Amino acid sequence: MASLIRPNVLQMTPYLTGKPIEEVKRELGLDRVIKLASNENPIGPSPKAVEAVRKAAERMHIYPDGAAFELKEKISSKFGVPRNQILVGNGSDELIHLIGLLFLGKPTDEMIVGDPSFSRFDASAHLAPSKLVKVPLDSDFRHDLPAMARAITENTKLVFVANPNNPTGTIVYKNEVDAFVRDLPEHVTFVLDEAYYEFAVNEPRMPNSLDYLAQGKNIIGLRTLSKAYGLAGIRVGYGFAPAWVSDAIDRAREPFDVNSLAQAAAVAAFDDIEHLKQTVEHNTRGLATLTKAFEAVGARPIPSCANFVFADLGIEAKPVFEALLRHGVITRSGHALGDKNSLRVTVGTDEEMEIFAAALKEVLMTATV
Ligand code: PMP
Repeated sequence: MASLIRPNVLQMTPYLTGKPIEEVKRELGLDRVIKLASNENPIGPSPKAVEAVRKAAERMHIYPDGAAFELKEKISSKFGVPRNQILVGNGSDELIHLIGLLFLGKPTDEMIVGDPSFSRFDASAHLAPSKLVKVPLDSDFRHDLPAMARAITENTKLVFVANPNNPTGTIVYKNEVDAFVRDLPEHVTFVLDEAYYEFAVNEPRMPNSLDYLAQGKNIIGLRTLSKAYGLAGIRVGYGFAPAWVSDAIDRAREPFDVNSLAQAAAVAAFDDIEHLKQTVEHNTRGLATLTKAFEAVGARPIPSCANFVFADLGIEAKPVFEALLRHGVITRSGHALGDKNSLRVTVGTDEEMEIFAAALKEVLMTATV
């Protein structure tokens, strides 16, 4: 009876998550499997967030605060943004989904994304269904903002840019975003997805969505606690947007989308400055380690401002991905991410990255692929 489902939904492909560790162990009969596939925090969550969740669990018979008052207060004071410009969601995935619902409705509506970029953006257009316009990244694997600006028509509703981009880890620079936002027509809303923002703090050319919001621009900035804050499993995303957007989100969202444990975890995690500092420091070292590992086998790692490295292997990545799996290392193959010769590897613990580097060398040097 699948014919009862709207055809555009049946044409969509379910989101491909990184392979779960237990599944790989079972399928390949391995005892030790490491996962460097989902851009998670190798240090783990803040101990303060874990403690807050333990406490909050005692009260899980009570519905969450649907207005997420304390969490929004925390975000408001931390970032200096009024409450009515703050969005929170069940992961930033939910916010991406809701933005699609808010702005796209007709088949003639258009949404512009980079290619390759984060695949959940595409889902918003497919669900509407509206027209998805993909603009290739430039030769440095960066978003080509001038080309994206040229792709805007009178039907364009949304432009999504992940900055840093997933899967490439590259950024668009502040001067480029300044120019793009300056020339953006009023009927277009610009979504700057800053899921990996915290890892790019040492990059002086990194723009900040908050600056454009303060200028009254038609922009939505998205952030998450899944990456640098280590809360991927409990699902909290947040964002900054003009008040008319947050008002519309409140009308469309589920009433209790951010659960009570997640709200408690997020408030505590925001206070753990030390955990964030350690995470970012470890990440900076980790990017250098992964870059070296790729260079050692003659691959071309793309300079990354995120918590993963995307490397052009110069050969098809899928067999390499599969051979690494047999060595107990889960990565993401470019064939699933829109670039078939590339592999994306997340910064892990020092030990995990050593295991990865050794496995990559063995796989590529002994030609087992
Ligand atoms: N945006 C980008 C660019 C991402 O890479 C991810 C994580 N895969 C998300 C959003 C979603 O993150 P969250 O866990 O907050 O839903």
